[in-house]
Amino acid sequence: MLENEDSIVAISSPYGIGGIAVIRSSGTRVLSIIQKFFFKKGKCSFDWGNLVPRHMYYGVIYDKDYMIDEVMLSVFKSPHSYTGEDMVEIYCHGSIYVQQRMLQLFIDNGCRLARPGEFTIRAYLNGKINLVEAEAIGDIIHSETESAHRLAIEQLRGGYIQLIEQLREDIIQFASLLELELDFSEEDIEFANRDKLKNLLLQNIQKISELTESFQLGNALKSGIPVAIIGKPNAGKSTLLNALLNEEKAIVSEIPGTTRDLIEDKLVINGIMFRIIDTAGIREAKDEIEKIGIERAIQSVQKAMIVVIVQDARDSIDDLDKYVELVKKHNPKSYIIKVINKIDLKIDLINQLDKSQDYILISAKNKQNIEKLKNQLFEVVMQKGYKSYQTMVSNVRHYNELLQSKKYLERALDDIINNITTEIIAEDLKFAIQHLSNITGKITSEDVLRNIFSKFCIGK
Ligand code: GDP
Repeated sequence: MLENEDSIVAISSPYGIGGIAVIRSSGTRVLSIIQKFFFKKGKCSFDWGNLVPRHMYYGVIYDKDYMIDEVMLSVFKSPHSYTGEDMVEIYCHGSIYVQQRMLQLFIDNGCRLARPGEFTIRAYLNGKINLVEAEAIGDIIHSETESAHRLAIEQLRGGYIQLIEQLREDIIQFASLLELELDFSEEDIEFANRDKLKNLLLQNIQKISELTESFQLGNALKSGIPVAIIGKPNAGKSTLLNALLNEEKAIVSEIPGTTRDLIEDKLVINGIMFRIIDTAGIREAKDEIEKIGIERAIQSVQKAMIVVIVQDARDSIDDLDKYVELVKKHNPKSYIIKVINKIDLKIDLINQLDKSQDYILISAKNKQNIEKLKNQLFEVVMQKGYKSYQTMVSNVRHYNELLQSKKYLERALDDIINNITTEIIAEDLKFAIQHLSNITGKITSEDVLRNIFSKFCIGK
């Protein structure tokens, strides 16, 4: 994966038939390889010595005497390319046959097929981008909603990296003073003022905590905010899900307890993705299958960021309160939205409602007030600080490195408070620095790199 002597080639556009397909090749040999089969119309040679990089050239691809396609071509000269190496991009017609013939031509002339993410890993290895930028590019490719896209763009722009770099530099400065003390240990001089160091550690632990606390929302914005829909059997949860999704996904039935499997669906509201989980009602299990459903419901409540409790307008308000207690017990941090359903049938219950509390009154069946519920879902996310996406951590690798770094900073702080030897403090700071460095890739193991880039598409 990390060897980059080979010249590589890939189809960078999605597999299948399209108007145009893009073939991309990178490596030391690509500029000589392309000369073997790219010609001017009439099969005259180009003046390759005078070809201007990053310009488009119109020409024809020949496999020996067989004309394959009329194409556009751009060359990129090292280091001014995505990978930092010499590169060629061909824009041919998007026939599967043409694409395959193009690939074969490159392979026959000495390229090999690129592995997933190999263009980007080369960009990283050649110093064109850091790891965080590489991951941001992956996130842009995978973004399905405005919020996921904005997170990725902020990360590409630098996002919280400056903050991490600053933290790292501050700690390095103190760590080097401690090292100095160790060098002069016989003389018993204190280069690093312990009070200052303690303050610095406290501040940095606080800053890292702010970043790690943003992860729950950041990660949810990227992959979808998990929402659990719970309530008694027959309250109308499946009907509500269908109304939200505007399609017939869940099975709606008259028999209580029939929604036994979790159904997960994606719903986009104002650019934010919600993953809606429909569950069997949480209540005393009557039989084994239902029990499994109830356990799953509790699990989904535990995983949810927002819990929608659906209540039949004909049932007692006490039932709803029981569900509220249950959610508070199993996931006290989640946000609860209380929905009273079937208002088309009977509205007596509305008079019993505590006016100081927020209820959303709907008829799932008649699709009445569904927009209100959608607005509420969106508002909850806005309240949770969606606006500050610039300093929001959405990458699980960054999150884990930050947690590790914080752990060592806390240990160093304890060391100081407990008057532990300088060697141990220095050692803990070193680990804290290492974990911060891993985020941008200043020092990162080959295993970590493999893991990051294996998630990319081929051709990127
Ligand atoms: P679940 O068990 O909570 O998923 O409930 P379902 O969605 O399967 O609904 C149970 C029954 O209530 C079905 O017969 C639905 O048609 C009915 N129902 C759901 N929502 C409404 C509503 O707003 N008004 C009326 N009148 N009936 C509804």
